[in-house]
Amino acid sequence: MPTVKTYCMFCPMQDSFFLAERPRSECAVWGRKSVLSVEFDPDVTRGLCARGNYCQELAVHKDRAFRAKAGEEFPPDAQTANSLLHSLEALSPDSVAILLDGSLTLEETAKAIALAERLGTKFVAPLPSEDMAVAPFKNNISFEKIANATTNLVIGDIFTMSPTITKLIHDASNIGRNNTMVSVDTVRARTGWFAHPELVVPVGRVPLLLDAITAAVGGKPIDELPLAELGISADDFGWAVSAVKSVEGNGNVIFAPGWHFADPFAVAGAAQRLAEIAGFGFAVLPIATNSRGIYRLLAGADCDIAGTYKAIADGKIDGVLALDCDPLEALPGMKIPDVFGMTGQLMTTGYHKATHFIPSKFLFEKTGKILGTEENIIELAEPVEGPGVRAVGEILDYLFGGEAPVFGDIVSRASEVAEVGASPVSGSGAPEGGIIAFGNGNVLHHGDGRYSRRIDFPNLRAKLDIEAVELPKAMAESLGVAEGDAVEVESGFGKARLIVKIAAWLDDGRVLLPMHNPAVRALFDWGKRPALTPIGVKIKKL
Ligand code: SF4
Repeated sequence: MPTVKTYCMFCPMQDSFFLAERPRSECAVWGRKSVLSVEFDPDVTRGLCARGNYCQELAVHKDRAFRAKAGEEFPPDAQTANSLLHSLEALSPDSVAILLDGSLTLEETAKAIALAERLGTKFVAPLPSEDMAVAPFKNNISFEKIANATTNLVIGDIFTMSPTITKLIHDASNIGRNNTMVSVDTVRARTGWFAHPELVVPVGRVPLLLDAITAAVGGKPIDELPLAELGISADDFGWAVSAVKSVEGNGNVIFAPGWHFADPFAVAGAAQRLAEIAGFGFAVLPIATNSRGIYRLLAGADCDIAGTYKAIADGKIDGVLALDCDPLEALPGMKIPDVFGMTGQLMTTGYHKATHFIPSKFLFEKTGKILGTEENIIELAEPVEGPGVRAVGEILDYLFGGEAPVFGDIVSRASEVAEVGASPVSGSGAPEGGIIAFGNGNVLHHGDGRYSRRIDFPNLRAKLDIEAVELPKAMAESLGVAEGDAVEVESGFGKARLIVKIAAWLDDGRVLLPMHNPAVRALFDWGKRPALTPIGVKIKKL
């Protein structure tokens, strides 16, 4: 039984696992029984979360696409690629954009850049767009150090965004050295339930809080710091400072922005400064596994990342090549381009609208490199044989009309990061007045949800999770709504019909929105604010 060691495609924990595939000699037809099992990698004690286990179902999913299509026809891959290339070349270069899923390899990114240069466009950008606010940061962490830390100061709902990090932090706790997890967020969330203290500050003020902790660790008296502005007690603040100061560098500052912060770039900068003064490890955890590596190659090639989202939002793009992402689910409401090329694995929303579609491999089915969260380069060396579709790199070769070039110095390009300057995408500032809505993660879902919404387990266990707005009890009473009622959430940019779920632990005036639902993502002005930061909303009963 061929068994390979491969990697989960869903988040920057980059957990490895074994996948067993039935040999084609035993089972010529690719079907539900072709991929037999996902086994934990015994060298990775944190195991896999539910999403990692989806890889088996995804490999043999009933909606898996196996045939290329061009219009109503189903020509071979090479012919479809050729037709797509000619259609893109016929457009003005400044109306063509290439979008890359955050699970593409470094080599595939380099080939996409080469194709963009050939087409004459600078509009190349990754999805999810929200990762770009923190992608420029260089990590300085090891997973082992997290498990052995005395203090982990975590910012954002990291247990939900990157679930197996929970095991590392619980390991640290179990060592029995008075481990502390301090959490910082703008809204109460799952991770904070396990922390002490849980520091929840107003949207937009997290950099102020982190700078205050940095100043206190550096010796500034607490009574000279703006605690009243932050709305936290001197006790909680003092505890957090002591947890950082007293451990002689045995700690980490870890930031998973999700969708909770007005300016994730500023938060990451303040977090990095705190880590430096404390002698702590530091990491940002974006949503997608290789967003940071992809960003480094695109930034080095001078691609216009923010300009890409804006041009799409402004309806100025007539030709899109979406590589393993589905912009109709990630950037809902965008104009469907005249030429809409896609590669992908499942027949998601974009598949049905694409002018050209070429089926492709998942990350766990191919070879190549990704940038590790520990700033290592992870080599995907053992692909499963898979269902006879091509990896994006091979499809880009077809589009390029020969082997598309890959930078000879790709590892150093991905490893070295220039001094972090300004954010590649702008933050929103804090919403003014009214109800503040925060995009929220879900342990059973990932990114725009285009994979996880089509997987059995979350549909059986928690189907309503991504159709519900979570409200505090007092707000539900003032709106006259009860659990299960339908409501309309309106952001001034879009409207979504959702159902009410009461979250008694939420602070009044704040609601949580499931970001794995395109109807919710349509509430966010992603062209201007690709980081999908908190928004002001109105809610009414339907
Ligand atoms: S924690 Fe992340 S990398 Fe690990 S199994 Fe879950 S989604 Fe995959």
